[in-house]
Amino acid sequence: MKNLIFVKIQLLLWPVLLSGTSLWSQTAAREQPNFIIIFADDLGYGDLGSYGHPSIRTPHLDRMASEGQKWTNFYAAASVCTPSRAALLTGRLPVRSGMASNTTRVLFPDSKNGLPAHEITLAEQLKQVGYRTACIGKWHLGHKEQYLPTNNGFDYYFGIPYSNDMDKLSNIPYWEYWKQSDDLIKTTDFNVPLLRNTEVVERPANQHTITKRYAEEAVSFIKKHKDQPFLVYLAHNLPHIPLFASKEFLGKSDRGLYGDVVEEIDYGVGQILATLEAEGLAENTIVVFTSDNGPWLPFKTNGGSAGPLRAGKGTTWEGGMREPGIFWGPGWIKPGQISALGSTMDLFTTFSTLAGAALPEDRIMDGVDLSETLRYHRPSPRKSVLYYRGTDLYAARWGAYKAHFITHGAYGQFGEREEHDPPLLYHLGHDPSEQFNVAQDHPEVLAQINALVLKHQSELVRGKDQLVERE
Ligand code: MG
Repeated sequence: MKNLIFVKIQLLLWPVLLSGTSLWSQTAAREQPNFIIIFADDLGYGDLGSYGHPSIRTPHLDRMASEGQKWTNFYAAASVCTPSRAALLTGRLPVRSGMASNTTRVLFPDSKNGLPAHEITLAEQLKQVGYRTACIGKWHLGHKEQYLPTNNGFDYYFGIPYSNDMDKLSNIPYWEYWKQSDDLIKTTDFNVPLLRNTEVVERPANQHTITKRYAEEAVSFIKKHKDQPFLVYLAHNLPHIPLFASKEFLGKSDRGLYGDVVEEIDYGVGQILATLEAEGLAENTIVVFTSDNGPWLPFKTNGGSAGPLRAGKGTTWEGGMREPGIFWGPGWIKPGQISALGSTMDLFTTFSTLAGAALPEDRIMDGVDLSETLRYHRPSPRKSVLYYRGTDLYAARWGAYKAHFITHGAYGQFGEREEHDPPLLYHLGHDPSEQFNVAQDHPEVLAQINALVLKHQSELVRGKDQLVERE
């Protein structure tokens, strides 16, 4: 029966195909959704209104969460910037690409290397099936020309190529510097470059207006490419410290400067949604919002909040890696709250499926396809999460349970490195704050997680450390 219908459709289309019009290809193109990934820097699980923050107002992100899907067990693949970003864009654990290191945890302005050329980025993947691609914002996968976004599958780049606290000009030592009051911290103290494609167009970048300008760049790219499928990877530099907001947002939030910054990011989300609606693209676009790692807690009120989750940036406790995960797309996403497991690495696989791009077969992919969960609420194929710190596996989650083999606090907080034998075991459903070790009660769970880890480790091929070499 199905075959008969197909033949009939073919016969009906035959005159169109013969006439040489592009109706067929236009129909095919419209079936590929546009993708927008909005990636915050160091924003915690608890920093949005829809995730329970009492004094930061995020009406546009809250709208995305209520009209789309709000994931409550969604993970970044690392607890710091560079490896987390490498994992999102390649769909692979950063230990495989070499974008994780035990010597230095992220790339710096004097780093020699970046994302290896043989890695396939999401942009390269989607370009193969006709997408136009833009990276706007923080890159942090290598600042030398061969490593920049335009040499990694993006048609367009506008942004600061690494963290906004780098290239510091002040002579005050790093940690001492932050003891100043907010009004003494100047955007000119950080000589970070702002690039358009590969050219420096401003230095130091004016960070007061950077969030606003990134949103405007995203809007302009969307308008320009509305007739083709597109990928916009909008990776804000903020709310990573130093915090800056434009004058329209400064002093407006009940949460202080950190809240001003998050509310300005939220405002930009609203502008993007409004553009999609005005251009008739809302039905065929999927917008994702998440963050690269948890809040940088030693900065006190200038750092964010992981809500009920333990610790923050830099650690494999939940607060370091579990993030808000919001998927919006009225034509694609079935609304609801999702407690299944998901990872930023899954975006590569999921978007490839939705765009009709075949997955690479010459390498291990760590992402899974979440498209059936997004479209129909079917169970997520992700059953486990691996928590790496640098190149060492510290913890593993299997279903509701998480075992810690090693723990280490967040940059001087919450304790030093400690090995655990037997591992610590927490039930993250009953105990999301990881307070009550239940290892004694569940030897069978520990055995299961051990088997999972041993299998992973026996098959793991480690990439050459790309972060260690400096100039
Ligand atoms: Mg970060």
